[in-house]
Amino acid sequence: MRLLARIAATLTLGLALVATGPRASEAAPGAKAAKTEPTKDKGKKDKGEPKKGAEKERKPKGALSAGAPNKGRLYGGEKLASSKSVEVRGGGHAYGLPDLVRVLRRAAAKVSGKHKGSVLYVGDLSAKNGGALFGHNSHQSGRDADVGFYMVSEKGKHVNPHRFVAFGSDGRPRGGEVVRFDDERNWAFVEALLTDTKTDVRYLFVSAGLRTRLLKYAAKKNVAKELYTKAASVLMSPADADVHDDHFHVRIACPERMKSACVEESYLRGGGGGSAASATNAAGAASKDTKGEPAPKEKAGEAKEEKEAKEAAPPPPVATKAKKDEGGDKDR
Ligand SMILES: [Zn+2]
Repeated sequence: MRLLARIAATLTLGLALVATGPRASEAAPGAKAAKTEPTKDKGKKDKGEPKKGAEKERKPKGALSAGAPNKGRLYGGEKLASSKSVEVRGGGHAYGLPDLVRVLRRAAAKVSGKHKGSVLYVGDLSAKNGGALFGHNSHQSGRDADVGFYMVSEKGKHVNPHRFVAFGSDGRPRGGEVVRFDDERNWAFVEALLTDTKTDVRYLFVSAGLRTRLLKYAAKKNVAKELYTKAASVLMSPADADVHDDHFHVRIACPERMKSACVEESYLRGGGGGSAASATNAAGAASKDTKGEPAPKEKAGEAKEEKEAKEAAPPPPVATKAKKDEGGDKDR
């Protein structure tokens, strides 16, 4: 009984303490703070930002191109390796979506199948996990690749100088190289890319002069009208400066299976003096492209070029002799 009484007394004391505690705090001004806190929390929850971010960062299974070419990531990228028909520049960033890596391989193999000994010289694709890449505005999401032109010697023999060489619209090198732009094989490469049944090549950036040259060659060869139209639409030429006179910049479309994460067009760059006019042009071109209508390529090129001109990029590792090399690859 004594024990019970002691327990009862302890309990009573304990209860009294518990009872006074809250009462005291309720009376204190802290109660108001307690009331406002939930409101704050609510506000945080409503924003819901951390959740969205977490979803974006979640690493998906398999390969994925996430985000835009100029602000994106690559997951599960495949490395393009040198082979009989492909030479990957040493020290380059050779990762891309398997779709890109394979369409390049297929196209190069097709060209070398037709023209023995042909080797496609490849510069940068993307870094292993994508993201910003030195010397490039895009190449961030595994959908971009820079590839050199096929060249011939002055005597018409296939040559591979193991680097990019800049050409004028006359097919002659801008520097002192003794090579020529090989219309036949460069067109064969374009054709192989555009007729690939597995991967949709969205853009082939190349200088205006070389674009015209290739289209003239195609017309002379009487290629199918459909192919010609597609080439005219996919070959994009910056209007103001020939920054793509020493390589093709290949961009594949977002593969259907990753449409929700993959952003087709590069983001417009707001800062750095990006004018409303250039933004309008680019947006116009992009919306036309989205609709699948053949957009006036020069317009789209202009928009791109305006941006390129405004963004000084550091020289790419390949920069060799031609002046144009210094401009690097500043595609959107
Ligand atoms: Zn490029």
